[in-house]
Amino acid sequence: MRSISVFGATGSIGESTLALLTPGQVRVVALTGGRQVGRLAEQARRFGAEVAVTAHPEALDDLRAALAGSGVQAAAGPQALIEAADRPADWVMSAIVGAAGLAPGLRALRHGTTLALANKESLVTAGPLLLATAAAHGATVLPVDSEHSAVFQALAGEDRAGVERVIITASGGPFRDWPLERIARATPEQAVAHPNWSMGQRISIDSASMFNKALELIETREFFGFAPEMIETVVHPQSIVHALVGFRDGGIMAHLGPADMRHAIGYALHWPDRGHVPVERLDLTRLARLTFEAPDPVRFPALRLAREVMATRGLSGAAFNAAKEVALDAFLDRRIGFLDMAAVVEQVLDRLSGELRLRIAAATLEEVTAADHLARQRADEAVSARQAKR
Ligand code: NAD
Ligand code: MG
Repeated sequence: MRSISVFGATGSIGESTLALLTPGQVRVVALTGGRQVGRLAEQARRFGAEVAVTAHPEALDDLRAALAGSGVQAAAGPQALIEAADRPADWVMSAIVGAAGLAPGLRALRHGTTLALANKESLVTAGPLLLATAAAHGATVLPVDSEHSAVFQALAGEDRAGVERVIITASGGPFRDWPLERIARATPEQAVAHPNWSMGQRISIDSASMFNKALELIETREFFGFAPEMIETVVHPQSIVHALVGFRDGGIMAHLGPADMRHAIGYALHWPDRGHVPVERLDLTRLARLTFEAPDPVRFPALRLAREVMATRGLSGAAFNAAKEVALDAFLDRRIGFLDMAAVVEQVLDRLSGELRLRIAAATLEEVTAADHLARQRADEAVSARQAKR
């Protein structure tokens, strides 16, 4: 029986992953979550998990109480997440949100696992380290971001040397046709309302600012290794075509499907086979139109910043992501405005390019973490400065 762990089980991707599994048909090793310990305990009981881990030590007593009599062990805190990743599992879903997802994923790779990677921040902050760790331990990394799963599928059986361009699509988010002045005044409630996809709060807001697409451009560069000028993004409001790969004979392979993450998750679950996945089937005759437009770099500056990171690489991805996470928290707390998020990230990248050798590739998790921490400090300073001006 296949053994499976899910990191970030209580989140949007985690729930969709468990929805594709049947208790008794898989051996669930570890499930992890945050403060929703009641939900985590329910999941762990249903699948008879070996261990349930909450990221928050202060929630351990509640988790223990919720698991009483179930035989499931309870644990808490960042070190417990690493220990959970040390428990061998054949297939591990990495679906914690943010930079916190990197360490457990890296650790699981050391056991030669197949890592289904939804946590895009792992590739953005430490792509070369992650892939080198996988290679050194005979582990496999499978992309679960929908665009990257789509590229991966379009490349199946193809010689990479024949690839001319890779295009990942963006929905454009809720502010796609808003003028700049209106975007500047956008609230967290407006930003979280994604037109097509149902996702966690943070990625939904990143979609509105196109920081999500910025992360995904970097993710494409790191995972597939194509040169930055081969990688494009195009706004496609219907979210039906997820990515396209163009070859040197002019042919393009496109991947289409309903906006449902269970497809990308199911593909990684059954890979290299194709298994049944219960997603809605596309009815082409009912698709009125598929439209495509160029993204606007003025209203969505995150895309320009992504290009800088794709060119610099090294520690710049860790700095970019950390600054973005701090700016996102500040926006959620209403300390800064929507467009201030990109301004903060740009300021941090500019400052750190003088303070850190951003081009140096991280060889260890500690180096990535140090760059992440410094960028968070600089971002806090930039947020405070902007707040003082408001
Ligand atoms: P979510 O917010 O719904 O869930 C996040 C999960 O991580 C929860 O289980 C939460 O408890 C846990 N978590 C949060 N902070 C943590 C921390 N500091 N330490 C340990 N655990 C923590 O997020 P989501 O939308 O499911 O996204 C998860 C990841 O997948 C993100 O990296 C996101 O970018 C990526 N992703 C999501 C989607 C989507 O449709 N939701 C699509 C593509 C990629
Ligand atoms: Mg995506």
